[in-house]
Amino acid sequence: MTGAGAANERPSIAVCSRRFELQLKNTFRIARGASDTRTNLLIELEHDGLVGLGEAAPLERYRQDCASAAAAVETMVAELEDLDAYRTLVPTVAVQGQPAAQAALDMALWDLAAKRVGVPVWRLLGLDRGTIPQTSFTLGLEDDREVLIQRVREAAGFAALKVKLGGDDDRRALETVRSVTDVPLRVDANEGWSLAEAERNLEWLTDLGVELIEQPLPADDLEGHRQLKRISPIPLYADESVGVAADIPRLDDAFDGINIKLMKCGGPGEALNMISSARAHGLGVMLGCMVETSLAITAAAHISPLVDFTDLDGSLLIANDPFVGAELVDGRLVPPDLPGLGVELREVPAPRGDPEN
Ligand code: MG
Repeated sequence: MTGAGAANERPSIAVCSRRFELQLKNTFRIARGASDTRTNLLIELEHDGLVGLGEAAPLERYRQDCASAAAAVETMVAELEDLDAYRTLVPTVAVQGQPAAQAALDMALWDLAAKRVGVPVWRLLGLDRGTIPQTSFTLGLEDDREVLIQRVREAAGFAALKVKLGGDDDRRALETVRSVTDVPLRVDANEGWSLAEAERNLEWLTDLGVELIEQPLPADDLEGHRQLKRISPIPLYADESVGVAADIPRLDDAFDGINIKLMKCGGPGEALNMISSARAHGLGVMLGCMVETSLAITAAAHISPLVDFTDLDGSLLIANDPFVGAELVDGRLVPPDLPGLGVELREVPAPRGDPEN
């Protein structure tokens, strides 16, 4: 799939997009469903002899797929004008309802911009890799006690675990995890609790040393979250309740922090806006991810010196990660000291899947 800037005054950009099927190491279950493969979209923007790479992880929950994301990227690229304005470019051409496609385009533009000046994106932003927090590793919902214990043991190198809750017996699952590890535990109910359930759960969550609860109640239930926040000794973090920076002002009395994901907000540029807004509202910041390859994970890692918590394990869940980028060093995902995002293709992924999907 190729296209190019149409008008003479527009920069000459070739865009190529292709999809690749990702095999998950383990079937991953959360409160809403289970899966063992994902199909993500890779885009390559070529301009002036340089190539910027971007990735979209489209989510059906948000009515996106690879076809809609690829079409949105083509539409946006055709509208791009001044590549020097990369920090603010994507909002001017955004296709509404396609944040994953926006994220792919935005990270490709950051990759290109930093490659043009020959520095890594983290250096372009004036950041210090020494302040990157250690990432947590996420455990999906797991009913089988022995399998859950095995998953905890496999995650032994991580400084913190995020445990998906919202299953049949959350307390038993978390007690099982706690019985075999002393690391800080964060939990994510993925909207799976009612206010009454969440209130009841606070006692054992506190006893088990949980340091953070992510999205306990349905996304729209801000009033429920406000009530819960007033009595919870554990900080509440918004995930499904927050997408972009404009969502943040109405959340600051309902949550203690937000979980930013590039695929929700539309890329590193909007993520930086969100970090600024969250700080202005006194909120903590976690940087999370979907199931993403080392390409999108590395894009997030470049801005991670600015956040309090990282949950950037998406590429670690994939058996056939096509990219090499950020590396796990002492539990931190550290972006490369190479121009741009510093991500390289490990192997050429074969195009897969139904062209209509
Ligand atoms: Mg979450």
